[in-house]
Amino acid sequence: MAKANTQVAAYDAIIIGTGQAGPPLARRLAAAGMTVAVIERGAFGGTCVNTGCIPTKTLVASAYAAHMARRAGEFGVGLAGPVHVDMPRVKARKDRISGQSRVGVEHSLRTLANCTVYQGHGRFVAPHEVQVDDAVLAAERIFINVGGRAVVPNLPGLDRVPYLTNSSMMAVDFVPRHLVVVGGSYVGLEFAQMYRRFGSEVTVVEMAPRLVHREDPDVSAAIAEILESEGMRVRVKAECIRLAPSGDDVMVGLDCADGPPEIRGSHLLLAVGRRPYTDDLGLDEAGIARDERGYILVDDQLRTSVPGVWALGDCNGKGAFTHTAYNDFEIVAANHLDGGSRRVSDRITAYALYIDPPLGRAGMTEADVKDRGKPALIATRPMTRVGRAVEKGETAGFMKVLADAESKQILGASLLGTGCDEVIHGILDLMYAKAPYTLLQRTMPIHPTVSELLPTLLGDLHPL
Ligand SMILES: Cc1cc2nc3c(=O)[nH]c(=O)nc-3n(C[C@H](O)[C@H](O)[C@H](O)COP(=O)(O)OP(=O)(O)OC[C@H]3O[C@@H](n4cnc5c(N)ncnc54)[C@H](O)[C@@H]3O)c2cc1C
Repeated sequence: MAKANTQVAAYDAIIIGTGQAGPPLARRLAAAGMTVAVIERGAFGGTCVNTGCIPTKTLVASAYAAHMARRAGEFGVGLAGPVHVDMPRVKARKDRISGQSRVGVEHSLRTLANCTVYQGHGRFVAPHEVQVDDAVLAAERIFINVGGRAVVPNLPGLDRVPYLTNSSMMAVDFVPRHLVVVGGSYVGLEFAQMYRRFGSEVTVVEMAPRLVHREDPDVSAAIAEILESEGMRVRVKAECIRLAPSGDDVMVGLDCADGPPEIRGSHLLLAVGRRPYTDDLGLDEAGIARDERGYILVDDQLRTSVPGVWALGDCNGKGAFTHTAYNDFEIVAANHLDGGSRRVSDRITAYALYIDPPLGRAGMTEADVKDRGKPALIATRPMTRVGRAVEKGETAGFMKVLADAESKQILGASLLGTGCDEVIHGILDLMYAKAPYTLLQRTMPIHPTVSELLPTLLGDLHPL
C-alpha cells in the first residue's frame, strides 16, 4: 500500500514490461479510450528485440553467409581469397537491425495517445498498486509482461571463471578461439553453430544423453550429425560439469562416458534455460501466486490469482517464445475488449530451432503420439529426396509427420531441413483447420519447393 504522503497516479490500466505482449496491448487499450501506464526498466522491446530472436537471427544470417561463401566453389563460384569474417561489422549489422526495433517500440509507446511511459523498475505494493521509483500507480487492470533471463546454474567453480549468457553475447565483436557452450538445446545450439561458422572452435556440452532431448531421438541424432559435420564437438551425458580457471582459459570438467574428462576453452557460454523475472516484483505484497520455479500461476485465460491482474508472455510459463507471448496478448485483448472467450489451450505447440537447416515443429512428437496410445500413422522422408533441397545443395535433415489413423488429422510434425521454418506452416494451418491430411493431397503446390513434397510425404503414411 502506498505511504500516506505518496501521491497515487490513477490509470485505467498498468502494463509492466514492454516485451512481446505489453506494447500491442497498450495500443489496443489506449485505442479503446483507456488511460494506460507502461513501465519498462530496461531496453524497450525486451528479450526478443534486444538479446533474443532478432539479434540472434541476424547473426545466424551472417553465419550462413560465411558458410555459403566457404562452399562457393561447390556452386561454381570463385572467391578472390579466403573467407574473412569481420566481426565488428557482423555485430554492427546486428545492432542496427535490433536497434531499429527497439527504437520503434519505444517511439510507438511514447507517442501513443492516452499512454504514459514510466522508465524504471515496477514493483507491486498492493494488489492494484505498482511503485516505480517515487511514483505509485494504481489501476483496476494490471498486465504483467516481465519476461525472463538466462539461468545461471550453480556449477562448481563458476564463481572463479568468466562466463557469457545470451545477453552478454550481444557485446561480442570478436571470434572466440574456442567457445564452450554449456547447454545443448535451442539457444545453445544456435550460438554454437553460428560461432563455428564465424571461425571458432566450438564444443557443446550437454548434461542429457542427447541434444535437444525434448525432441525425438531421430531428430536429436540428425541435429548432432549436422553440427559435427561442420566440425563442432558434442559432449553429451556431462553429468558433473565443473569449472576452473586455467591461465586465460577456462577448464571444463565433464565426467562424460566417452572422450577426454576435461576440455579447455577460451570462452564459456551458459545456455541452460530461462527463469522468469518475478523475484523482485512484489508478488507476495499483491497476493499473486507463482509456482516453485517463479512462474506466475494463470488460468486458461491468463488471469492470475488476483482478480484484475493478468500475466502474459514468458513469465506465466505457458510458452517461451515471441509468438506465444504475442498470442497471449491476442487472447487477453480479445477477451477483455472484444467480448471473446479465447483460451491458451486452443493453441497448437509450434516453434523453430534456428540452426541451419532449421527445425520446424508443430504439435506432438513421435514420443507424444506413442504415449497417447491410439492408432496413429507416420511417414518420414530424407531431404536428399526433396528436389529443391538437392538443387540448393542443402540436403541435410529429414521430414516426419504423424497423423491419427481414424480421423486422418495431423497430430504433429518435425521438419528438419532447408526452409522448414516456413514449410511447417502448411502443416500448422491444416492442424488449426482440423482438416484431414487428405485435403493437402488434393492441393496443387508450387514447383520446385520443399512444400511440394508434403503431399508425397503424406502419401507414405503407414501405421506407427
Ligand atoms: C537467445 C534467444 C533467442 C531466441 N529466439 C527466439 C526465436 O527465434 N523465436 C521465438 O519465438 N522466441 C525466441 N526467443 C524467446 C523470446 O525472446 C521470448 O520468448 C520473448 O521475448 C518473450 O517475451 P515476453 O513478452 O515474455 O518478455 P520479454 O521480451 O522478456 O520482455 C520483458 C520486459 O519486461 C521488462 N521488465 C522485467 N521486469 C520488470 C519490472 N519489474 N519493471 C519494469 N520492467 C520490467 C524487461 O526489461 C523486458 O523489457 C529467444 C530467446 C533467446 C534468449
